[in-house]
Amino acid sequence: MPSDSIIAPGEVWLVGAGPGDPELLTRKGERLVREAEVIFHDALVGPGILELAGPGARLVSVGKRSGHHSRDQATINDLLLGAALAGRKVVRLKGGDPSIFGRSAEEIEHLRAHHVPVHVVPGITAASAAAASAGISLTLRGMARRLQFVTAHARAGEELNLDWKALADPDATLVVYMGRAAAAEVAERLIEAGLDAATPVMVVENASLSQERRFSTRLDLLGLAVKTAIGKGPALLLIGKAVAAASSPALAEKTVQRFF
Ligand code: SAH
Repeated sequence: MPSDSIIAPGEVWLVGAGPGDPELLTRKGERLVREAEVIFHDALVGPGILELAGPGARLVSVGKRSGHHSRDQATINDLLLGAALAGRKVVRLKGGDPSIFGRSAEEIEHLRAHHVPVHVVPGITAASAAAASAGISLTLRGMARRLQFVTAHARAGEELNLDWKALADPDATLVVYMGRAAAAEVAERLIEAGLDAATPVMVVENASLSQERRFSTRLDLLGLAVKTAIGKGPALLLIGKAVAAASSPALAEKTVQRFF
């Protein structure tokens, strides 16, 4: 065992894999992926990252994508526990940042309840990657002072249960994770709650990957746009004044000219 190993046998490291581009994995995350003996990974963790695993590592996909729940959360918790109790060096690789819509709390709690040491390594969340690709800022001085991350994933047959009044804030940037299926409903509810129908919206699919697609529209056209312009990859909805610069390079240029 190399003396500079970070993972002790029997420990679990929850590692954020970032949005997809392997270059956006942290240096620590990369070291952990190289060291791990067993890697449990989400469906969204791409091949470029899994290729970094050592030759003897066991890669186990525990991916959950809407409609294809290959393993339920309790099974994943037990798989992690089993590998740790067997004395393996375990990495649990999650898309983006583990602490954002990643159900990491359940895994941490389960492992701690069985006295298994758990560590978490942050990752770049999809919203940050989407903003970076589009060259926009998620916050804008005086115009977008609040950043709201929500998930619009509802259980089959259930209505979205979100605080629409709070979300319909013209001075905030709203980022909707898992929002593709509910895009039309999200737009409708936000408009009902008072948000301007012309509020700028950007949809980003496969942020940071070579297949990335982005388009800009307005809130009242969001449902239609998602249906026609987006494929099957993971996608984010970004809503608010801050995303206007993505659709208006002239505006961005103007801002720059004011400074130079
Ligand atoms: N922990 C992750 C989010 C998990 S929820 C993070 O911090 O990014 C899964 C949702 O994240 C997807 O349904 C999609 O809305 C979003 N997502 C993940 N990767 C993405 C990507 N590369 N591009 C766009 N959206 C992405």
